[in-house]
Amino acid sequence: MADTYRNVRVAGANDNIYKDECLYSFDNPESENGLYICMSTFRGVGKAHLERHCRNNPGKNVFLHILRRRKPVPIDANVEPTKITKLAIGIEGGFDVNQSNRFIFEEKYAIYIHPDVTIPYPDEVSQLPEFVKNSADAIIAADSAFLKEERSLMNATWNGEIRRITKHSQTLEQLVNGRKIPPSGWQCDQCDLKENLWLNLTDGAILCGRKFFDGTGGNNHAAEHYYRTKYPLAVKLG
Ligand SMILES: [Zn+2]
Repeated sequence: MADTYRNVRVAGANDNIYKDECLYSFDNPESENGLYICMSTFRGVGKAHLERHCRNNPGKNVFLHILRRRKPVPIDANVEPTKITKLAIGIEGGFDVNQSNRFIFEEKYAIYIHPDVTIPYPDEVSQLPEFVKNSADAIIAADSAFLKEERSLMNATWNGEIRRITKHSQTLEQLVNGRKIPPSGWQCDQCDLKENLWLNLTDGAILCGRKFFDGTGGNNHAAEHYYRTKYPLAVKLG
């Protein structure tokens, strides 16, 4: 049995944990079959691609299975939303990542050994060697690689530290027009779209994304706003 787990590693601070999406498909923890995180490579794999992962990575067939389901949280009308003083995420005065979530997530875990062993976790933790438990806990506790990247990119952008500086960011004019951007519940200023929205950094306009040739996408309001005003920078909301 000890041999079963010979490739399991405990992730350290420098390991990136790919627990948002399958390497080969769009499966994620909220998909019907959840997502399997390889406990050696820390890559996420959907159920349909487990066989392929194990073939490409001999001996690395132990996974943490994550099944996530979301439940809506009733909005409390008596709680005032946090005032945003700085465009950043997860730092004081920035977006409160938790407060803008209107869902709670419930996750179920299991240790899965391809092709046929499933050990509910942590219910049957006593069946597992200590380091396998430590590996599972580290994956569960880790920020995902995607979140890490997004957070550092957004904070770098909004604190003016981004490395690929566009010519516009150094001379960007920001209008003092009293516009306040709420932490959630956005809608296009010109239509009723609530997704695929862009915040213009000059005037705070919130407008929908491009319309694509096949009729999908937004109603092109952000692009039209730019053609009209030439306000050059916008960030995608959400
Ligand atoms: Zn629109």
